[in-house]
Amino acid sequence: MIELQNRVKSLLADKEIDLFIGYGQGTRLPRPLLAGTAEEASGLVFDGACTGNLAVYLTRKEVAGSKKVGIAASYFALRSIVQLLAEHQLREERLRVFALAPGGTLKELAGLAEVERHLAETPVPSLQVEDDWVKEIDAMPPKERWGYWLGELSKCFKCYACRAACPMCYCTKCIVEVNRPQWVQPWAAAASNMEWQINRVMHLAGRCSDCGACGAACPLGLPVHILSHKMVEIVAQRFGTPEGGNALSTFKPDDKENFIG
Ligand code: SF4
Ligand code: SF4
Repeated sequence: MIELQNRVKSLLADKEIDLFIGYGQGTRLPRPLLAGTAEEASGLVFDGACTGNLAVYLTRKEVAGSKKVGIAASYFALRSIVQLLAEHQLREERLRVFALAPGGTLKELAGLAEVERHLAETPVPSLQVEDDWVKEIDAMPPKERWGYWLGELSKCFKCYACRAACPMCYCTKCIVEVNRPQWVQPWAAAASNMEWQINRVMHLAGRCSDCGACGAACPLGLPVHILSHKMVEIVAQRFGTPEGGNALSTFKPDDKENFIG
């Protein structure tokens, strides 16, 4: 903790970074802490409980652009950073990434290659709960499965917290806010809520880090991260690792087209 605080203070003093996106002590869990001064950096914490995906702040307009930024990145935030770099949403030379090695040692990762190496060397955090949940839903007959999702998503009141929490939802104008043409009804209703979630998850095909932040952000506790998790599984099974990660915007001449009637 002190090691990170001191390193951030020195990066700020040397003008190597303008801002550090990290975690501070929360009441229940660590909370995001954006440190721009040495005093603010004194509140930084970073340990195994810091699992929230802070990469979501990297593309916010107050941070993106000219700012040099440091970040304390959880495993899934590192995945998001790799994807954001692939989509040219971040400038590698303006980013200082800190991660935790297994055992809790602080690691400073210099650039994309080191982030990728660290990810390759680090065991993937368990997603057993999500795997079991998907298995349970997959085992339902199609009609029951449709009823399950319709039942859950009919409760959605379209607050878009799931979108706001996602590092990969960075479009300045989301499809749900476009009204010429209007793709998705803006008011909450079972069918259009379903449409919204299908659109959200489709847009994230191959880009989602599986961090679960969308589900954690939902004030109603709707399991929308399970939809994302299922999409991660489908993309891995059908496309492996698509180039640049984006399954919808890449193709290979030998892609299967058996879905075309
Ligand atoms: S869709 Fe959900 S699980 Fe995937 S990156 Fe976004 S917040 Fe994380
Ligand atoms: S966070 Fe929950 S209630 Fe809000 S739009 Fe997403 S699914 Fe609906």
